[in-house]
Amino acid sequence: MKRIQTIKEVKNEMCRYRSEGQVIGFVPTMGYLHEGHLSLVRESIKQTDRTAVSVYVNPKQFGPDEDYLQYPRDIDRDADVLEKEGVDVLFTCQDREMYPKGYKTYVEVQDYQDVLCGASRPGHFRGVCTVVLKLFQIIKPDIAFFGQKDAQQAVILKKMVKDLNAEVKISVHPIVREKDGLALSSRNALLRPRQRKAALCLYQSLQIAKQAILKGQTDSLKIIHLMKERINKEKQAQWDYVEIVDKNNLESLSKVIKGETLIALAVYIGQVRLIDNIII
Ligand code: AMP
Repeated sequence: MKRIQTIKEVKNEMCRYRSEGQVIGFVPTMGYLHEGHLSLVRESIKQTDRTAVSVYVNPKQFGPDEDYLQYPRDIDRDADVLEKEGVDVLFTCQDREMYPKGYKTYVEVQDYQDVLCGASRPGHFRGVCTVVLKLFQIIKPDIAFFGQKDAQQAVILKKMVKDLNAEVKISVHPIVREKDGLALSSRNALLRPRQRKAALCLYQSLQIAKQAILKGQTDSLKIIHLMKERINKEKQAQWDYVEIVDKNNLESLSKVIKGETLIALAVYIGQVRLIDNIII
């Protein structure tokens, strides 16, 4: 595996693969890798000839009061793990090269960026779209792999690629969970043991929603009420949002529609903000 730190070098490497007619897969991450990330890496290795992974904690997608500094990092461990998986290139980038002095250009997906996580994290998806489009320009992948864990991000990036005619396929893959249901997240490392237990309320509230729907409940407000009831039972937990939306355009749904409904939530466990979702 090549560890590359400059844009020029990684462009050259990708150019070489392309000139050999190889299909390039790309997995953008913020590192502190877990099995969720690795499921995307394995998918890329399976589907493409060359896999590039980026590890970059993008400062532009964190608000001023968010956990940019606390975000867990361990690039040497990440590099070891990726090497063992058979990744071809690990790209890490310095902030000063990604956003040189005088940087001015941003990408926004209107409306989609303002709901769910975007409502409580203004500017977050602008940061995400900007860095992902920049990475697409640098790597020029044929297929980019993303997790359903960040459901809104996946919808927004698909829309960005469509609207801007970018030549990349966005491939979205299922959420990888712990045995007890907690969705894997780099931020789980920040949870204390008691908080780890409380964090189960995200998955369990989604299960409560699913059961209610299986029993015939379709009224979004009633389902959201049941979910919030479960979360409110945890002293350490404070929901940020619990919403039922159209899985394709993120518009609020008053009734659950089979195959088209995304139930998504964000919950603070202490200071740690976790997200989860299911598609019904
Ligand atoms: P992050 O490092 O958090 O920016 O995540 C990088 C990619 O991994 C994103 O496409 C995430 O959606 C995906 N990802 C994170 N956690 C999981 C998970 N538990 N299951 C599947 N994909 C995940």
